[in-house]
Amino acid sequence: MAEKRDYYEVLGVDRNAAEADIKKAYRRLAKQYHPDVNKGDADAEAKFKEISEAYSVLSDSEKRAQYDRYGHSAFDGTSGFSGFDFGFGGLDDLFESFMGFGRSRASRRTGPQRGNDLQYSMEIEFMEAAFGATKELNLTRVQNCNVCGGSGSKPGTQPESCKRCNGTGQIRYSQSTPFGQFVNVRTCDLCGGEGKVITHPCERCNGKGRVTKSSKISIEIPAGIDDGQTISLRGEGEPGLRGGPPGDLFVTIHIKPHPIFKREGYDVVCDIPISFAQAALGAEIEIPTIDGKMNYTIPEGTQTGTVFKIRGKGIKHLRSSIRGDQYIRVNVEVPVKLSQKQKELLRQFAEIGGDEGLEQKKGFFNKMRDIFRE
Ligand SMILES: [Zn+2]
Ligand SMILES: [Zn+2]
Repeated sequence: MAEKRDYYEVLGVDRNAAEADIKKAYRRLAKQYHPDVNKGDADAEAKFKEISEAYSVLSDSEKRAQYDRYGHSAFDGTSGFSGFDFGFGGLDDLFESFMGFGRSRASRRTGPQRGNDLQYSMEIEFMEAAFGATKELNLTRVQNCNVCGGSGSKPGTQPESCKRCNGTGQIRYSQSTPFGQFVNVRTCDLCGGEGKVITHPCERCNGKGRVTKSSKISIEIPAGIDDGQTISLRGEGEPGLRGGPPGDLFVTIHIKPHPIFKREGYDVVCDIPISFAQAALGAEIEIPTIDGKMNYTIPEGTQTGTVFKIRGKGIKHLRSSIRGDQYIRVNVEVPVKLSQKQKELLRQFAEIGGDEGLEQKKGFFNKMRDIFRE
C-alpha cells in the first residue's frame, strides 16, 4: 500500500488552520472530486476517499490532536478508515453542498393546486371614479378546455397508468457512493408525477387540458375609488389544477387626469381665474362642480390665491354616503391688453388714491424702509 499523504497536505491547509477553514477546504475539494461529478473516474474516486479520510480526522479535535502527535501511526491497528466514521454529522452537510446530488426529494404534484392569480390594470375617467361605473375588461387567461373538460384526453378515451413509474408518479433509483448505496426518489419524467399518461390527446388543447382564451368580463367600479387602488374579483383568475380552487383577479385602477378638476383624497380642487375688477368689487361667478355648474359669490377685496370651500361637493367616500368637499382657488388675472381709454381710467384711479389702502403693499414697504434706514 502506498505511503499515506499528510492529511493537512491533502486538504491543502496549514497545520494551524481553524476548524472553519478545514471545513471550507474539504467542501471545496469534495465537490470537485465527488464521484457523481466524475463518473467512472477511478483517480477522482481515490482522491475523494483520501479527502474524506483526512477530513474525518482533522475535523475531530481529539483525533486531530492524536494525529498531530503521532502522525498516521496514531490510527494503526484500529478499525480506522475501512468504514469511515462520519459521526461528526458531515454527511448531511456534504450532500447539501452537492447541488442536490443524492438528496433530490421527489416533488409530489398529485394534490389539488390553486389556480394562478391574475393582475391587470385599467384606466378610467375622473367622473367614472367619482360616481362609479360598469366597465368591461378584456383579459386573456388560461381556462379549462371545453372539449375535454380539462382532462386533456380526447372525449371517450381515458389516460393510461404510466408504465415507467407504475402509476405512482415517482421513480426510485439507487446511487452508489463511497459511503454505500442510497435509494433515492425522483419525480417520474414521463408522466411528470401525475402517474397517468394521456394516450389520445384532445385535439383542441393538445392534451394540456387547458387553453388560453380571451374573454370580456364586467367590472363594477365603486364610486369613490382612487388612483392606484385595486379591485379584487375572487375566483376570476386561472382555474385550479386537479380540483383546486381558481385564483383571483386583481385590477388596479388608474384615473385619467381631468382638464379642470384635481383630486385630493375625497376632495376636489379647482383653479378659477377672475378679473381684477371682480376681485376688487366682489362678484357672483359661475363655478364648475362635479355635479354641474353653480353660482358662487366672491366677496369684495378677494386676493389672488384665496381658497373657498364648498361643503359636500367633493367625491363620495367608498362604501359610505359621505361626500368630500370642493375647494376653489381664485387667481386674479391682470389685464395685458388695455385700450387708451382703459389706461387713462387706471391712471386716474391711481391719482385719486386707488393705490392707497393696499395693506400688504404698505406693510412690505414699511419693512423695507426699516431695513435700509441709515
Ligand atoms: Zn382539451
Ligand atoms: Zn410516470
